[in-house]
Amino acid sequence: MAKKQFKAESKRLLDLMINSIYTNKEIFLREIISNASDAIDKLCYLSLTDDQVGLSREDFRIDILLNKDERTITVRDNGIGMSAAEAEANLGVIAKSGSYAFKGEMEEDKAEDLSIIGQFGVGFYSAFMVSDEVTVLSRKYGESEGVKWQSRGADGYTVSPCEKESVGTDVIMHLKEDTEDEIYGSYLEVWKIKALVKKYSDYVRWPIKMDIQHQERFETGETDDEGNPKYDYRMVTENETVNSMVPIWQRSKSEVTDDDCIAFYKEKNRDRKDPCALVRINAEGAVSYKALLFVPGEENENAFSGDNKGGITLYSNGVMIMEKCDKLVHDYFEFVKGVVDSPDLSLNISRELLQHDRQLRIIGQNLEKRIKGELEKLMRDDRPKYEEFFRNFGVHIKAGVCDEYGRYKDFLRDLLLFYSSEDKQVSLKEYVENMPESQKAIYYASADTVRHAYSLPQCENVRSRGYELLYLTNPLDQMVLECLREQDGKSFVNVITDDLGFETDEEKKAAEERDVENKELLDFVKESLGEGIVKAKLSGNLASQPCGLSTEGGITLEMERYFRHGPSEEMRKIKANRVLEINPEHRAFQVLKEAFETDKERAGKLCKVLLTLAELMAGVDVEDPAEFSLLVGELF
Ligand code: ADP
Repeated sequence: MAKKQFKAESKRLLDLMINSIYTNKEIFLREIISNASDAIDKLCYLSLTDDQVGLSREDFRIDILLNKDERTITVRDNGIGMSAAEAEANLGVIAKSGSYAFKGEMEEDKAEDLSIIGQFGVGFYSAFMVSDEVTVLSRKYGESEGVKWQSRGADGYTVSPCEKESVGTDVIMHLKEDTEDEIYGSYLEVWKIKALVKKYSDYVRWPIKMDIQHQERFETGETDDEGNPKYDYRMVTENETVNSMVPIWQRSKSEVTDDDCIAFYKEKNRDRKDPCALVRINAEGAVSYKALLFVPGEENENAFSGDNKGGITLYSNGVMIMEKCDKLVHDYFEFVKGVVDSPDLSLNISRELLQHDRQLRIIGQNLEKRIKGELEKLMRDDRPKYEEFFRNFGVHIKAGVCDEYGRYKDFLRDLLLFYSSEDKQVSLKEYVENMPESQKAIYYASADTVRHAYSLPQCENVRSRGYELLYLTNPLDQMVLECLREQDGKSFVNVITDDLGFETDEEKKAAEERDVENKELLDFVKESLGEGIVKAKLSGNLASQPCGLSTEGGITLEMERYFRHGPSEEMRKIKANRVLEINPEHRAFQVLKEAFETDKERAGKLCKVLLTLAELMAGVDVEDPAEFSLLVGELF
């Protein structure tokens, strides 16, 4: 029979896997069992609508057969099976992008950390870590003939038709010869396999059965001197279920500790980090369900498949109906992972119908309340951990506030954190609680970094009054505040663009008079700077700085910066209306005034210097530093 070649990338992966000194070879069993379980899921699902399947829930099973003489371990399932074409397509190429990404990773830092293999869905191929030959016998449901797929590893595989009595798949792994480092033969020991099933596959929904030998006491039929029956011992073989099957979320809280749940999460999601929050629900009432949810400890970086979303798996009575039910909670909680199991859900429900399912909506709402509650608790009880959570997932919460015109803003506002001038992160509630009596509003400044925000002259003015400031460094932040509108009756005030309300009426009047007095000079400034600004004004808001930059209208400098990397030319052209503010109390203003009266050319140059200084402080790049340097040089 002609031997077929694996696709190039598969071959490379196989080489790596077979030849690497990989310490965790035992995971092959988990991978093969999980494929078997998936195959049963599929046939079981089919049996709900197709009477022809002829199997009921209780009939499905996975068998593990150990044969010391043949040196084989067989994993047998009565699941959906594979046709010849499917065997070829599924086992002859690495279909999974995850496996493919793994290959790239391995090439980069080969010997560094081989345990990384365990984090990928290497799946079927892992059989070759322990076997020198793998034979797959499979018959697909609905077909009369079976298929035999066989391979000795990297050099290729054969596919041929074969007889197979029943539907399902046998994966027969012929174990490698033992070496000094690795006793492959240990996988023929019942105790070892039993332990591996417990460790990795305990919650597989289907019974995993093995023949297990026990010592049994029996009556020999003889009696001793006193007439009592005599006993002896013999070995009996019993077919036992070795996994506990009942999924962890179906068990009561007294039986399963939080640590058990965390171990389950890490194993299932192949995450090395503990989740930062855990929600366990056992709801009974109008809708009954059990849920086990996790907020991951960090954005899932091992999902090389590009699918970074968390996702909640939906079960109905232990039968999986949807792997990633993205309609259960809103996008702002899309990072939450876990399972929801409800007997009230209809099994053969389509994705579209699911979205409109009333029960599911009720469950979703409850889950959201509980998730939020857990996060609030974390914020109260373990602030560093909450801050870490917010660094990882805060952007989802912020986007959620802005979503659908602020529809969810009140649900989410207490989960928000912002950097503050007190050098910490605060919630809006905390900010308001800390406000001194005299403070009327919530002040904020936007900049690309906290340092830039700190150095804005307008901030100095607010800080010098003992008021706390929020430093917004994410382009979304400002939109978030705009959506929220207020917090506990206090409005948000942008220190760059809004009236800070610090001036008394008299001061305001004096300022107006001063503006009128200096109108000619200010017009001159505007004229000298042309397109660079929309206007120049005097400002009492600049503390010790000679000048500052503010903006007029809806577009701020941060938005301009944000749009500069926008997808369309039109977007990239969006500019903020810049206003040059000059501090009338500063010596620079006097110098400018004198020059305006005596030497207009020099005054024009001073205007340019002031604008550039203001831009620098606002974090705007100087377009031509050499020109600026020459200009300053000329003024000495
Ligand atoms: P994954 O399971 O992650 O998709 P695998 O390499 O483990 O990747 O398996 C590839 C495919 O082969 C599976 O997706 C499935 O279609 C098929 N397959 C593997 N084992 C079985 C089995 N026991 N029964 C039916 N199909 C199987």
